[in-house]
Amino acid sequence: MMGTVSEDIGYLIQIVRKDNEMRERRVVLEIAPPRIAAIDREIGGLEKRLKEAEQAMEKWKREKLRLDDEVKLDGMEIDKKKKELNVCKTNEEYRAKIHEIDFLKKKIDKAEERILEILDSMEETRREVAEVQSKINEEKDVMLAERQKLTDAISRAQAELDALESEKLDVLPSLSARTRKLYERILAARGDSAVANLVGDICQGCHSRVPPQKSHEVRRNDALITCEACSRILVYYENDT
Ligand SMILES: [Zn+2]
Repeated sequence: MMGTVSEDIGYLIQIVRKDNEMRERRVVLEIAPPRIAAIDREIGGLEKRLKEAEQAMEKWKREKLRLDDEVKLDGMEIDKKKKELNVCKTNEEYRAKIHEIDFLKKKIDKAEERILEILDSMEETRREVAEVQSKINEEKDVMLAERQKLTDAISRAQAELDALESEKLDVLPSLSARTRKLYERILAARGDSAVANLVGDICQGCHSRVPPQKSHEVRRNDALITCEACSRILVYYENDT
């Protein structure tokens, strides 16, 4: 009888060790995905900034080309009108021509002012492109490497979790019928695990303190003792970490 309970406790220790290992894997599965999402957001943000700067640059270039053409055509128009001044027949015609020439000159001045503004904006945008580009060059590879590590950690944790779960199930048939019944009942009630190990006087299932006398009994590992607070079966093993 005594031997059976001790054997059961040996199996329960195997189970709780696996539960604890599974808890560690679950932490990875919880922490890694939000970090991956944060990396994706960061990389996405940089790439968006770069794309927007490049698009702005294209816009400035197109506007500048259009204005360059406009200035050139207006200049040619002015030359043409200046020649026409010589063949004006009336003063009215002459004044009208002068007026047209002035209008075109003002238009050219305005366009050239705008071109200077555009050149400033282009310079600013060029700096933005260079800045974002170098940030991407410096940080993207590091972030992608971290992302890959996290992705690997997730698949590893998931695989290990599956393996631990099936190892745990493999241990169950070794329990005596009575202990297994108790185990199943507590597991159904607790949902996650039916066994908790003791570290110091603390139940690792619910983190409540176990009275010294009870702790002492648990450490002997020869009787099925449950935690008063969470009702999990208490076991003791030397912590190997
Ligand atoms: Zn407890």
